[in-house]
Amino acid sequence: MAGRPLPFGGLEGAGPNAHPEVVLQNSGSHDIGPKSWLRFTLAAVSGALLLSACGSTSSGPTPSTAECLQAAGNSAVTFVADDGYQQDWTILRPIFKEAGVPFVSAVITNSIGHASNTSLDQIKQLAADGDEIVSHTVTHPDLNTLNDAMLDAELKDSQAALAAAGLPTNHVVYPMGDTSERVEQAASKYYQLGVGVGNGLNDPKALERYDLHRVALGSYFDVIPSSPPHPPTNTLAYYKARIDEAVQTHQWLIFMLHSAGPGFDEAQVEALKDTVAYAKTQNTNVTTLSGGYAVAQKLAACK
Ligand SMILES: [Zn+2]
Repeated sequence: MAGRPLPFGGLEGAGPNAHPEVVLQNSGSHDIGPKSWLRFTLAAVSGALLLSACGSTSSGPTPSTAECLQAAGNSAVTFVADDGYQQDWTILRPIFKEAGVPFVSAVITNSIGHASNTSLDQIKQLAADGDEIVSHTVTHPDLNTLNDAMLDAELKDSQAALAAAGLPTNHVVYPMGDTSERVEQAASKYYQLGVGVGNGLNDPKALERYDLHRVALGSYFDVIPSSPPHPPTNTLAYYKARIDEAVQTHQWLIFMLHSAGPGFDEAQVEALKDTVAYAKTQNTNVTTLSGGYAVAQKLAACK
């Protein structure tokens, strides 16, 4: 991975600065701590909120562009479950297996095999099924609090542990979504993608490869200010609307799941099933992080 150009020079000038940005505090949890701030780019249009549609065009592509976008796959939807909970095996696996589409399990390598987590055999079976196993670091620290050597070890050693188990990965999900330019630089030494928390969809033409955005599903719900009024973010209608947005604006939507997270009750499990089923019927690809990145690269190449 060494020698690959880093995207950081372009980050500050990309997307969000063109829009009013609201910084919000997550309602708080063990996984998304009080230091995690979710940023949303908001534009109110006719009483409705358009969320993070930065960079997408509504003026209508030329026919050749439309053909290119369609050939590229139009859009992508990825489901990433954090922390490697045992419920990835008992709840998520049956849902995605039944649907015939993959999900991504981001595992904490030191927690593999603990009572509340998936075992190595289970993780290997997920990978054999076509699901994707990625790093969620070794011990799940707030990476921002670590010195350079510890930060490097969390990123490097988790990847090495997975590779040693026959589970190579080029992707990392930052614990609690806590990241910074320093963390992203460190991740870029070993990884192709770094996944954060919040901020909506990912525009392939302005992809923040080491700070990929996510939309919460099932727990740790997206927080949007109460003024102007907005619909709730913990409903099937919200999840479907974000898929619609990805499809219509040719973006990459990454859902954040916590299979043992607070609020992931029977109703949310049903909402997940319905969201997966809905995504499958839309003009999009339900795929892994690797698959979504491949689609995004193709979409970005369209004029
Ligand atoms: Zn986590």
